[in-house]
Amino acid sequence: MSGRLQHRVALITGAGSGIGLESSVLFAQEGAHILLCDINLQGAQKGADLISERYPQVKAIAIKCDVSKEEDIKNAVDTAVKEFGRLDVMFNNAGIMHPQDDNALNTEESIWDLTMQINLKGVWWGCKYAILAMRQNPTDVSKGLHTGGSIINTASFVALMGAATPQLAYTASKGGVLAMTRELAMVHAREGIRLNSLCPGPLKTPLLMDFLNTEEKRQRRMVHLPMGRFGEAIEQAKAALFLASDDSSYMTGTDFTVDGGLSSAYVTAT
Ligand code: NAD
Repeated sequence: MSGRLQHRVALITGAGSGIGLESSVLFAQEGAHILLCDINLQGAQKGADLISERYPQVKAIAIKCDVSKEEDIKNAVDTAVKEFGRLDVMFNNAGIMHPQDDNALNTEESIWDLTMQINLKGVWWGCKYAILAMRQNPTDVSKGLHTGGSIINTASFVALMGAATPQLAYTASKGGVLAMTRELAMVHAREGIRLNSLCPGPLKTPLLMDFLNTEEKRQRRMVHLPMGRFGEAIEQAKAALFLASDDSSYMTGTDFTVDGGLSSAYVTAT
């Protein structure tokens, strides 16, 4: 089998659902060995089992990892290197959208802190341990393997646009992901380590659909979506695959927006 990620090793957080799950399966289809990490081990294990069944030529391992804990992320990266010998792709994708996240007046400090801990600090730690591992990647020219790698951090369209339906902590955390990713991209550019942010638009995944739990809330957003629909997780996975592979070899520090045109919209078609 030849694929865009053949012989590569990818670690994906939030791999038990949505974007992370679809990306795990797609990256495996393209030849990568996958470490599926999630706080929900059952979800990650289901993904690993699916990959092993469909693509027996690659290895998939699921582990429990809470990205809000530094030791869990260090352990996840160590596991990838121990089991697969290297780390080529780090997809820092896990995130939460808390139902009590609101405006400046109503958001509790505990909700702010929890959101930052997972969505922003977790991404920092993911970058830190991935960079350390990628520097040690052995080169094997015959297999197209080299030192360095690709780090993809999931941000959001809300980091680029304001919304009068506030989720203050979530939005601030995702803005932090964009700024941090851009800066790290500059710091590590000459080491062959590329860092890019993925900015998804609103998607039909449990994260958003649990939050938009009434038709009224969904319609409040739908009118602003140029294509008249929410996005699918697989549409983000395909963009993540591009950022993970050498197809994007001259891209670093980008806010890669996959939002169905939302961030370009003023008035949408009826
Ligand atoms: P999802 O809810 O389908 O999947 C998120 C996964 O992350 C779940 O499996 C969950 O168990 C896991 N997770 C949560 N907290 C964790 C933690 N502390 N440690 C490890 N894993 C944890 O959501 P999704 O839509 O696939 O979201 C993935 C990413 O995309 C998130 O960062 C989210 O903020 C971002 N995003 C989503 C949307 C959207 O509309 N769904 C839009 C823009 C950005």
